Amino acid sequence: MKRKMILPAFAAALVLFSAAAAVAGARVGKEAPPHDSPMGPHFSFTRAQWESTLTELPPEIRNAIYADEALFLKEAAALIDAGRAFYAHIDTVVPVDPIDLRPADLVDLNDYPVRTSKPMQVRRPAAEAFAALSQAAAADGIRIVGISGYRTYAYQQRLYENLKNAVGKAGKAVSAAPGHSQHQTGLAMDFNSLEQDFDETPEGLWLKAHAADFGWSLSYPEEYEELTGYDYEPWHFRYITPAGCRLQRLFFNNIQFYLTDYFHRYDSFYREYRTHE
Ligand SMILES: [Zn+2]
Repeated sequence: MKRKMILPAFAAALVLFSAAAAVAGARVGKEAPPHDSPMGPHFSFTRAQWESTLTELPPEIRNAIYADEALFLKEAAALIDAGRAFYAHIDTVVPVDPIDLRPADLVDLNDYPVRTSKPMQVRRPAAEAFAALSQAAAADGIRIVGISGYRTYAYQQRLYENLKNAVGKAGKAVSAAPGHSQHQTGLAMDFNSLEQDFDETPEGLWLKAHAADFGWSLSYPEEYEELTGYDYEPWHFRYITPAGCRLQRLFFNNIQFYLTDYFHRYDSFYREYRTHE
């Protein structure tokens, strides 16, 4: 009996040892750059400094980043340059910063070639990206309608209180608490319908396939309800720039939460070492 237990344990140890040796080989082989070498041209941090930011990421995300470091750093530079607002992490725990944020460059969507269900505002970059998205959708025979854009802290507070009274509890998964809504940033929009089967409609399918090309990222995907703290919302998108969407798709398992959590955490690190080539 004991002998039977020992053999698999030995085999497992051997596998682990081989794997460790392979990893060590990849890191110290003559092809691997030294840990104190700069990661340029976009950033001046060393490999060791940069790698220390990756240690807490899920393994599949870390591996994807290691698989194409140069592209990751190029897109990261573009995202960092766009500005913190485009990747600031906001969830049920982390509020909008500052909590009474009112963006300076809000514009009326009436002034853009887009459809909305009511008068609404978003930040200028989001308005331009919504117009580009709308035009591409129209060319495919798809009509995208904005049904919610910028919301003030006070509006979100009323919405939250109303829902709380209606359902008898603070339904975090249904409505964000005041100060915790992406809509307060002026960079989030709801499109067309607040029904979960929206993702089966031509409009929902079109957004799923093409929104990222215009910098719009689905914030609350299906099967990630526990991570995000929100029910699946196939209509709710956040403008995170095209570079942000490429980073999300190629490196962050196509999950916005992982992307913003990482860049929010290491925002000052990336800024401090940004070179201007
Ligand atoms: Zn929304």
